[in-house]
Amino acid sequence: MATRLYSHPLFLEHLTPPGHPERPDRLRAIARMLDDEAFAELDRAEPSPAGDASILLAHPQSHLDHIRDASPEKGLVPLDADTTMSPKSLDAALLAVGAATAAVDDVFARRADNVFVAARPPGHHAEKVTAMGFCLFNTAAIAARHAQKTHGVERVAIVDWDVHHGNGTQDIFWDDPSVLFCSTHQMPLYPGTGAKTETGAGNIVNAPLSPNSGSDLFREAFESRVLPSLADFRPELIIVSAGFDAHRRDPLAQINLDEEDFDWATGRLMDAAQTSAGGRLVSLLEGGYDLEGLAFSVAAHVRRLMKG
Ligand SMILES: [Zn+2]
Repeated sequence: MATRLYSHPLFLEHLTPPGHPERPDRLRAIARMLDDEAFAELDRAEPSPAGDASILLAHPQSHLDHIRDASPEKGLVPLDADTTMSPKSLDAALLAVGAATAAVDDVFARRADNVFVAARPPGHHAEKVTAMGFCLFNTAAIAARHAQKTHGVERVAIVDWDVHHGNGTQDIFWDDPSVLFCSTHQMPLYPGTGAKTETGAGNIVNAPLSPNSGSDLFREAFESRVLPSLADFRPELIIVSAGFDAHRRDPLAQINLDEEDFDWATGRLMDAAQTSAGGRLVSLLEGGYDLEGLAFSVAAHVRRLMKG
């Protein structure tokens, strides 16, 4: 078995306005990095698009209809101040969801030890009925519900180390104790949620970090909040909302991590997955907006996944 990588050229065709940080070059930078022979052993695969039923695992029909109705035939259409659709955005978002659910199927079928999905648009800000923060559908949330529905598992954990709080994932699982949601993020920062006091049905664990926290406080938050919660919950699958915008080079935040921190956090989550989930871990790209910081961070993350 190996680490599987899902990517697809269609993910480059989701277009955003000039100067927008969430741009196709992000995936080009990742692809260049993963072309290195150090990653020759990656099991590279292309996903198929998700059907409506997958979207409806985490969103009502009205949300899917809204996104479909907004999809432009040409040009760019803003859904809010940050979130834009181009003619191929809907197809890219459906393909991103298809990759995430296929990744879940892969780890349960033992086709892969773990999987990294290099897709865009990202997903963790998408709430049940609101596309926001560059996100249309909540890919991580759909993947978790897909695991429960298709593979009969009860407990799924989503760990979100993107520097922004995963408000969408929190919203979807707010009253669903079958999914543990743990998030480290900068606070204050967009979208403004993610206080420690937001605990849902006891299944939401927020670990907000002050600007300029750096490596030590990030790791401390992981060790004192995230890892003990995983140990108590004993998930049967760990999904990572893997944003790399907490890197020190990132222009949108100031947590100032290095790629070694992502290597470390990946290793800790792999240990947790070994303990209760048979090693099953699915990692989904979220943010990360400095091309060099993103590429080096993804390389550290994937290299660690490949070590098994
Ligand atoms: Zn982010």
